[in-house]
Amino acid sequence: MQRRDFLHYLSAGAALGMMAPFGNLLAATGPTMPGNTGANGRVVVIGGGMAGTTVAKYLRLWGGTGVQVTLVEPNPTYISNIFSNKVLTGERTLTQLSYKYGTLTSKYGVKLITKSVVAIDPTGQQVLLNDGSKLLYDRLVIAPGIDFDALPMSGTAAAQAKVVHAWKAGVQTTSLQSQIKAMTKTDTFILTIPAKPYRCPPGPYERACVVADYLTRTAKTKGAKVLVLDANPGIQAEVENFTYAFKTIHKNITYVPNAVISSIDATTSISKVNTSVGSFSGKVVNAIPPHKAGKIITDNPLLASVGGRWAGVNVLSYESNTVPNIHVIGDAAATTQPKAGHIANAEAKVCADAIVHLLRGEAVNPSPMTNSACYTPITNTTASWLSVVYRYDPATGTMLPTGNGVTESSGINKDNHEEMLKWFSNLMSDTFA
Ligand SMILES: Cc1cc2nc3c(=O)[nH]c(=O)nc-3n(C[C@H](O)[C@H](O)[C@H](O)COP(=O)(O)OP(=O)(O)OC[C@H]3O[C@@H](n4cnc5c(N)ncnc54)[C@H](O)[C@@H]3O)c2cc1C
Repeated sequence: MQRRDFLHYLSAGAALGMMAPFGNLLAATGPTMPGNTGANGRVVVIGGGMAGTTVAKYLRLWGGTGVQVTLVEPNPTYISNIFSNKVLTGERTLTQLSYKYGTLTSKYGVKLITKSVVAIDPTGQQVLLNDGSKLLYDRLVIAPGIDFDALPMSGTAAAQAKVVHAWKAGVQTTSLQSQIKAMTKTDTFILTIPAKPYRCPPGPYERACVVADYLTRTAKTKGAKVLVLDANPGIQAEVENFTYAFKTIHKNITYVPNAVISSIDATTSISKVNTSVGSFSGKVVNAIPPHKAGKIITDNPLLASVGGRWAGVNVLSYESNTVPNIHVIGDAAATTQPKAGHIANAEAKVCADAIVHLLRGEAVNPSPMTNSACYTPITNTTASWLSVVYRYDPATGTMLPTGNGVTESSGINKDNHEEMLKWFSNLMSDTFA
């Protein structure tokens, strides 16, 4: 297969080697809901993001009418994090990145409840919603994404409010966009990257590139600098492409590794970021704090079995290692796979397939495969990419990269930027349409 076809195949959301063999074909040609497939039960899904929406859709598509799926999500609209860096530069709007759940309910018969889950009762197999109501489940899928540790900060409330992460697309993205727009040519934009694991390994370096590109392309800000303070010892993804981009394309970027934040002195003009390798001052501070699984996981120490921060799962079904009948997918799960939207979509399909089999009293697929692809805008017209296919390894019980592992684009160019737009459109259609 040509790389282009391969990436389009991947981006159609294939979870390779799964036991619902026609799933991808159906998705590509316009799926029809099957009747009762012998799988019967109530599945509650917490979180309508990349992972939760996909699992809800595919549970119905592969499980049929006997699988009653209820999705609980507090927001009526999902705003994609993917491409939200392009909102910072004015190339996209949040409205263009907004997705609704209409198809999920009308086409696939998923029941949507626009509320939050505030507690889980694994013994009674029920969840409590923020309006006091309860939902019983036979299988529960939790896909709440991530939460953050608080960063130690000083300064007035107004000054502290300016220090945003914008790592969950929404109001913080808009705030950061305004702050970048207000910069002048003598200003510095500071981006801090937390120690791994964090969501979207190439994402922060991508942000540094597109902000540096915007600052250089805009007359008012040409000459402004980008300072990347990375808590990690080096660039975490696409090392060759980002090293080249930082050194050659965006000479206004300075990259500082091993910079673990100790505190931030926020002011409304110049803020100071104190780190393990020194203090740095900048006009705009975009601080991405250390990550952990969404609160509904960390509120339940039994579920947050990996350091009290992430959910340990069996990657054959994404069932929790510690709590039966509860599955965790997407960024909140601790696996060997990256925390990213494309792989969240793939994990969701492995999980949906496994639950359908379990509801039929059958064994789950013993050798699932997943895939991740990530396109990275480097400027407003060029991009790079990486892709990797994972296969279940029975010896370690983990998903391991196949072949040569992670493949990266051999360059940064306009073709990649065009393919990126198609990839994104396919991925979001597979998730929300
Ligand atoms: C700037 C940026 C760029 C990115 N670019 C890419 C990219 O190019 N490619 C890629 O693959 N990935 C990318 N990602 C990563 C990707 O967005 C995430 O990995 C992905 O969204 C994870 O999916 P998820 O379903 O686990 O979490 P989310 O998509 O965050 O969804 C979680 C959902 O759960 C809901 N929720 C939380 N708690 C509760 C509760 N108690 N009750 C009910 N609902 C709840 C939330 O409201 C939310 O809708 C990027 C991320 C960022 C920040």
